[in-house]
Amino acid sequence: MAHRHCPNCGGLKLHPFHRVNDAEQRYIASQGPNPSDWWRCGNSGEKGRCLWVQPIYHQSAGFSLPDSFR
Ligand SMILES: [Zn+2]
Repeated sequence: MAHRHCPNCGGLKLHPFHRVNDAEQRYIASQGPNPSDWWRCGNSGEKGRCLWVQPIYHQSAGFSLPDSFR
């Protein structure tokens, strides 16, 4: 577990991030990046689980998973 800022959830609060699972890793790889050491925001909002994924120290390389990953 790590705590990072999340551009989707916003604010100054740090959110718990966890390592992406196999399905998430496959999707990230299908988009081009090497998915090793990618993490997903573990925060939940009104619409369900947050879809933000990123390399743990490289937020600008991250993106949102498609809605099917909620
Ligand atoms: Zn988030």
